[in-house]
Amino acid sequence: MIVRVTLEIALRKEFDYRIPRELEGQIGVGTRVKVPFGPRTITGVVTAIVGESPHTNLREVSGIVGTKGALTPRILALARWIGEYYCCPVELALKSVLPEAVRREDAKWRERLHVTALPAPPEVPRLTQRQQEVWNIVEEWRELPLQELLRLAETTVETVRKLEDKGLLLLAQRVDERDPYAREQILPTLAIPLNPEQEVATKAVNVALDGLPAYDEADEGDHSATAPRPFLLHGVTGSGKTEVYLQSIDHALSLGRGAIVLVPEISLTPQTVERFKARFSSGPNATLVAVLHSHLSAGERHDEWHKIRQGRARIVIGARSAIFAPVDRLGLIVVDEEHEHSYKQEESPRYHARDVAVVRGRREGVVVLLGSATPSLESYHNAKRGKYQLLEMPSRVTEQRLPVVRVVDLRVESRKARGGMPGIFSERLREAIHQRLERKEQTILFLNRRGYSTSLQCPKCGHVAGCPNCSVSLTYHRSTNRLLCHICGHEEAVPSKCPAPECGNPAIRYSGLGTERVEETLAKMFPHARIARMDRDTLKKKDDYRRVLTEFRLGRIDVLVGTQMIAKGLHFPNVTLVGVLYADLSLHVPDFRAGERTFQLLVQVSGRAGRGDVEGEVCVQSFTPFHPAIQYARRHDYLGFFEQEMEFRKELQYPPWSRIALLTLKGRNEDKVKLSAEHVRKELRVRLAAWKDLVIAGPAPAPLLRAETYFRYQIMLRTRSMGRMGAALTQMQSEVTLPDDVQLAIDIDPVSLM
Ligand code: ADP
Ligand code: ZN
Repeated sequence: MIVRVTLEIALRKEFDYRIPRELEGQIGVGTRVKVPFGPRTITGVVTAIVGESPHTNLREVSGIVGTKGALTPRILALARWIGEYYCCPVELALKSVLPEAVRREDAKWRERLHVTALPAPPEVPRLTQRQQEVWNIVEEWRELPLQELLRLAETTVETVRKLEDKGLLLLAQRVDERDPYAREQILPTLAIPLNPEQEVATKAVNVALDGLPAYDEADEGDHSATAPRPFLLHGVTGSGKTEVYLQSIDHALSLGRGAIVLVPEISLTPQTVERFKARFSSGPNATLVAVLHSHLSAGERHDEWHKIRQGRARIVIGARSAIFAPVDRLGLIVVDEEHEHSYKQEESPRYHARDVAVVRGRREGVVVLLGSATPSLESYHNAKRGKYQLLEMPSRVTEQRLPVVRVVDLRVESRKARGGMPGIFSERLREAIHQRLERKEQTILFLNRRGYSTSLQCPKCGHVAGCPNCSVSLTYHRSTNRLLCHICGHEEAVPSKCPAPECGNPAIRYSGLGTERVEETLAKMFPHARIARMDRDTLKKKDDYRRVLTEFRLGRIDVLVGTQMIAKGLHFPNVTLVGVLYADLSLHVPDFRAGERTFQLLVQVSGRAGRGDVEGEVCVQSFTPFHPAIQYARRHDYLGFFEQEMEFRKELQYPPWSRIALLTLKGRNEDKVKLSAEHVRKELRVRLAAWKDLVIAGPAPAPLLRAETYFRYQIMLRTRSMGRMGAALTQMQSEVTLPDDVQLAIDIDPVSLM
């Protein structure tokens, strides 16, 4: 027998090998194998079993890595699609569909010595007092890891061995599953009676699930023709979307189908995971819920993945890459917060997990449910033109109303302030915080910038301390008294005087605002308030995030200051005030999606307020209070925002009116990068001449011209439909010669233009 193998080195080519007799029957499509390649041995994946090969003198497969079907044929087919659509070598795509922890050759289950009590002999042997104490514990537990017993009984291995010699217990190696949530106490929950809006939405999804064709093991083909249409669930914050997910998943399970739930990494909080584990920990559809995200140890990830592969975990909840989970008889894919940009991987393969979900759903004939309070323009547009089925939940579950949003004009504030610059807190916000402290309610303050101040600027000559590797200014971090680049991580000491040679002014000062300074100012203003800050600087350890949130939930913190990591998904009924300190921050980004992102962020943060019995209030401070993104967010008017933003996009023919491919060339020599970019543009003009409606813009310097010492130039392609654009670009990339020190990256459907 002959197999076709894709090697783990990006050659964009497959090779044929013969299966030696001793491995026959152990190799199938998706098996990972070791094969000779030149003088080396390399790992690869079997992509097909072929009758004969055009090549002669085939070499033999030398061994198998891991289990026979590491990759299911369906996942293999999906990886191929990713390679083609996102212009990346299939080898890379294959790598990203299997977690590193599973791919590694030494990846395996952990085995530990376990102590098992044997049936008590008719005559209990004589035991010393010490031995009796140890035996009592073993008898009570029946079975436990040896280490655990040694700890509990404060004893030694010798004592345990003596008990083994007396025939009371058995010591043996056993698989010991690593469970990242083992220490969590999870209390089972029951389904909540749905309100009418939730009822309609859940019904629609369940009907689609009922309509799925019988699962066909052998089938890896394309169900495009009969595929249920994906659903877009547009439900305001607190409308109870999660309950819809839970009950739909429950229905899928009752039909024998599994589910994948994608959530943005940032909202993969213990709170979220708990809700899923709790619901499926008992009852007729009880199952393990596997969790996949970047904070797990390699061992934990290995075990979670295999629980899925073995079919024991019928539900997976995870971040981006969980879309590749090999769930057996998959029936439903949920993508929560589908508008989130973190679903896009910013390195090759540059896939968007939400889009992959839709494609996987179509190929495998699976129901896809996208949910958001602020759907991406792309998805809402798809729903309006019937590509997706729209489900609306416009009100919050109980009587809670959406919070009142007040916009404070910072221009007026700065006129009032004598120095010309307003303080961090307007009068209104200060008063609002004060009231909450009096009433023992909680406040969340949001600022999307960490550090103390954004830049160090000389008031005399205007010199700004910039990063030597990137075209951005350095941020001052007071706690460490250092300047830090938020792009590349470069750090340096704070100069005692202006470093510009002809200046040397000692009165250099800081401007701009970061979370660190907000916290400090707040502490001065309200000395008795209990304040905590949450951003990447304060969360160093794995457990920090959970710890701070638990403290906040228990009411031990009055005010929580943070970056976008506190904007999403948190549910704290005692939070009645949300302050957005500087709403313009995300507006001043050179990206056509800046308005959309600001709107989404404001709506999401506002959604944290008033989730309990007391009505919530949101205070948004801004220098451009009449910007549509801010005004529509103030009125919780998604549709209004959508319509005006679509007009703006139409004028410029930006997505969703078009699709974009962004080509970025980078290198350390700016002239070379520029010349290469022009060369690529010429090639594109020739190669894509027949492409109707194609617009090629650039080359132009990237908005962030220099990052991590590389200069970057961009070419933007816009077209109505991506079609086979990926293939054409891949071919161009393989045929065009560029200088060795200039690299070309292709990003299909980019979410960031930086
Ligand atoms: P969303 O995800 O839409 O922001 P959640 O699913 O987090 O909203 O729901 C908000 C809160 O309302 C949760 O505490 C949830 O348990 C509760 N909830 C959901 N559905 C109902 C219902 N039908 N009746 C009562 N409470 C509900
Ligand atoms: Zn830098």
